[in-house]
Amino acid sequence: MGLFINSIFVFNHHFMKDLIAIEEWGFGTGRPFVIAGPCGAETREQVMKVAHQLARSGRVNLFRAGVWKPRTRPGVFEGAGTEALQWLTEMKQETGLPFTVEVATPAHTEQAVKAGADAIWIGARTTVNPFLVQEIAHSLEGADIPVLIKNPVNPDINLWVGAIERFSNAGLSKLAAIHRGFSSYENSSYRNKPTWEIPIELKRRYPQLPLICDPSHICGTTEPLAYISQFALDLNFDGLMLETHPDPENAWSDPDQQIRPDQLIGLLEGLVSRN
Ligand code: PEP
Ligand code: MN
Repeated sequence: MGLFINSIFVFNHHFMKDLIAIEEWGFGTGRPFVIAGPCGAETREQVMKVAHQLARSGRVNLFRAGVWKPRTRPGVFEGAGTEALQWLTEMKQETGLPFTVEVATPAHTEQAVKAGADAIWIGARTTVNPFLVQEIAHSLEGADIPVLIKNPVNPDINLWVGAIERFSNAGLSKLAAIHRGFSSYENSSYRNKPTWEIPIELKRRYPQLPLICDPSHICGTTEPLAYISQFALDLNFDGLMLETHPDPENAWSDPDQQIRPDQLIGLLEGLVSRN
């Protein structure tokens, strides 16, 4: 019994001790820390267009783009795959912006790392699956790459914590949580209900864990994006992940929630950081 309690203590202690602050990841110290880019990398031109505008603004810490897209139903754009990784590698060379992509398998992870991804993120549909999360974590054992873990689709804080712990136990110490809201069958004006008490509780349990809000997937539309972004900052979130596309209406995924890069920069300029 004594040994059992002791091992739990050591385990939790390890998880708390090793996290590195997001300002020390080498992507700048922006407050808020901003991750922005299109939902999906569609063409080389689209990637470059968005990235150059974001880079010029000087307000974006990390470029995001989905390369493998987890779509609800088959038969639609499922990401440009390996080819898109090449565009992102070139984007980074041209603009100097570091980039992150979503990975859902160890094979994705290996390809992303090989292409020079500066961080990877775990999507909401992957966080729900402890087997996959464990396999991805195992494939990164001892690596230095930052991992951003979105909340699971369902409002289960322990499933979210469990995914973060799997990466922590694999020796990773640049970890952050991304709050993207929770799926619900009820009618709601949100695509994914924010249920703010869940990320607040996560921050209460793990104050050192950087917490990023993804207003794009919470809202599902563009009108409330600025309000939700400001709300997250007022709750002391460390950063924002926002989707931006040069021609949102014609985006191949998530057209209703993306804004143009100039609109995104305007949104960021309008945010107030309070202490
Ligand atoms: C995305 O970021 O484009 C995405 C698929 O997000 P989520 O996993 O939050 O649904
Ligand atoms: Mn999306």
